[in-house]
Amino acid sequence: MTIRPQDERDLLDRIPTRLLLGGEERDASDGGTFEVLDPSTGRALLRVADATALDGAAALDAAVAAQHAWGRTSPRVRADILRSAFDAVTARADDFALLMTLEMGKPLAEARGEVAYGAEFLRWFSEETTRIGGRFATAPDGKNRLVVLKRPVGPCLFITPWNFPLAMATRKIAPAIAAGCTMVLKPAALTPLTSMLFARVLTEAGLPDGVLNVLPTTRAGEVTGPLITDPRLRKLSFTGSTGVGRRLIADAAETVLRVSMELGGNAPLLVFDDADLDVAVDGAMTAKLRNGGEACTAANRMLVHESVADEFGSRLVERMRSVVPGRGTDDSTTLGPLIDESTRTKVHELVRDAVDRGAELALGGAPIDGDGYFYPATVLTGVTADARILREEVFGPVAPIVTFASEDEAVALANDTEFGLVAYAFTRDLNRALRLGEELEVGMLGINTGLVSNPAAPFGGVKQSGVGREGGFEGIEEYLETVYVGIGDPYSTA
Ligand code: NAP
Repeated sequence: MTIRPQDERDLLDRIPTRLLLGGEERDASDGGTFEVLDPSTGRALLRVADATALDGAAALDAAVAAQHAWGRTSPRVRADILRSAFDAVTARADDFALLMTLEMGKPLAEARGEVAYGAEFLRWFSEETTRIGGRFATAPDGKNRLVVLKRPVGPCLFITPWNFPLAMATRKIAPAIAAGCTMVLKPAALTPLTSMLFARVLTEAGLPDGVLNVLPTTRAGEVTGPLITDPRLRKLSFTGSTGVGRRLIADAAETVLRVSMELGGNAPLLVFDDADLDVAVDGAMTAKLRNGGEACTAANRMLVHESVADEFGSRLVERMRSVVPGRGTDDSTTLGPLIDESTRTKVHELVRDAVDRGAELALGGAPIDGDGYFYPATVLTGVTADARILREEVFGPVAPIVTFASEDEAVALANDTEFGLVAYAFTRDLNRALRLGEELEVGMLGINTGLVSNPAAPFGGVKQSGVGREGGFEGIEEYLETVYVGIGDPYSTA
């Protein structure tokens, strides 16, 4: 179903455009607003309130004021709110999908996939809410009793990126609600609309005033900096680039603030000589082109055994050739625009650098003229070890192919990066797959699949890809403090 301009206007007319502070939708304290653009046209969609540092302070005040009562609500109450929010997002899947397509550019089918993925965090954590445990033990000497309690960390600050406008928010908000934490959310200035609609859905689902406060702003550092060093804030969870994450960790050190960091990636995708090449090419298409390559999990380096490299390369080129760039609202589109001109310039620079150093352009490789920030599906073969594209996250639809001769060499190449988010490997050898699980320096590994993201699994990286996990049983722990209560020997006075 192709979307008509009128459908877009009808949806945009229903999107909240003001800050959410203490349960009230409010203008920015200085009345400022900013434009949210459609990356497929470069034209404005809506103007939204542009939060100031004063609004940031008000948001934290509201979160702090709401914390005590919210932390004492019963798990069942919090579970029911999450479940209602899951139902509401699912019922409004078309609205959320179209909104993400408009502000971020991904094709509608992918946006629908993100709605299902993002909503599932609400359902998963609604189920986890009533299972927050603790433990009881007798001390080894048989005397004292040891009780271990879990309680909410307290007010949290969330900073999210533009590439998955719904899922990056629900992956933090759902476990925080489950644990009983209050929140201030600063969405990316490029894509604040989805978060603003989601916040309204949560309010309608019964989330009390002040539990979630939302601050769209073009002044990220000015608004969030004072919150990070405010001793009332108890947790910072950030998803974004490693460069910004590094600076925020340094700021958080001032108050020894607890942090979770979901940062950049440089995922290797390994194709061994025993791989089923149909499965490997399918997996490579998913790992490379999901979200147009604008994903932290995107395969950044295709490492292929030299004996299958030509066959894999030519099949990948054929599949990449069939990709159709266009506006995400159009049915035929399978590749949306990049998010902005500077992203497109960087993608093209990395392609040119690889070619200048000796790579061959097997497909694509030049920006598409016209409105919007389009770049075609691109394949580079024979990429040399010194090419920047092997070290820097390309964040675009570009697949560089490098060959290897042995498993040891493949592992060494894969680990030759400061990042460690995810790797993919295609092999029919179970022992090799298990070895890779132990040898690759990553937080996640896909075997014979190009997609590992799942709300029931712990998502996160090692090395400079981050600290902490989102999703799975592990996800809620990020929002819980462990308190140990030692109880004197109950027999001492018997
Ligand atoms: P980014 O530039 O680091 O921005 C991420 C968020 O941080 C945005 O909300 C941004 O606000 C904010 N920000 C920027 N500077 C800040 C500062 N000085 N203080 C406080 N906040 C600040 O990253 P991006 O370009 O949006 O996203 C792409 C990056 O995110 C990639 O590296 C990707 O790998 C990573 N990512 C990681 C994961 C994961 O789970 N590991 C998931 C998705 C994306 P404004 O945009 O408003 O400036």
